[in-house]
Amino acid sequence: MSTDKSQIEKLIDGTLPWPELRDDVLPDPKDPERFETTIEILQERVDWDDRILVPLNDHLYVVAGDDGRTVKAECGHELCSADENWKLECDIRAREEQEETAELYPELMTPDPDWTFQIREYFCPECYSLLDVEAVPAGYPILQKFEPDIDTFYEEWLDQPVPDGQ
Ligand SMILES: [Zn+2]
Repeated sequence: MSTDKSQIEKLIDGTLPWPELRDDVLPDPKDPERFETTIEILQERVDWDDRILVPLNDHLYVVAGDDGRTVKAECGHELCSADENWKLECDIRAREEQEETAELYPELMTPDPDWTFQIREYFCPECYSLLDVEAVPAGYPILQKFEPDIDTFYEEWLDQPVPDGQ
């Protein structure tokens, strides 16, 4: 029996970043349509037409557009090409005052008490939606959490060609 669409919607609403999608949703051999249903639901929720290839997080997608694969925000703003670091295109706010980071790392519970932690918030440069938050040691480079290998994913896991923007 194929997974009910509303079940997948609930899964998405519980947040559906790439690692969970890859590990938990996909591809159930008994339910090959799961991924397509997932993409269909995500696609209905945005008001642009570029084909979503994979969601990166709740607000960001890799899409097949006219100019190849790009990272697109929920609002439709294109941040960069899919092989670039989208975080570098964001407006970034970094904070490291103890009072502010204490909620994340209470005193004596930090991985190393001598490290200063920084909270970085990444905002869409067009609509200022918060796209991601991370807590890292101050000075830590701005890295993407994961870069999905879209070709391998489609061709080997889904056994289908990667959709293009045409
Ligand atoms: Zn935006």
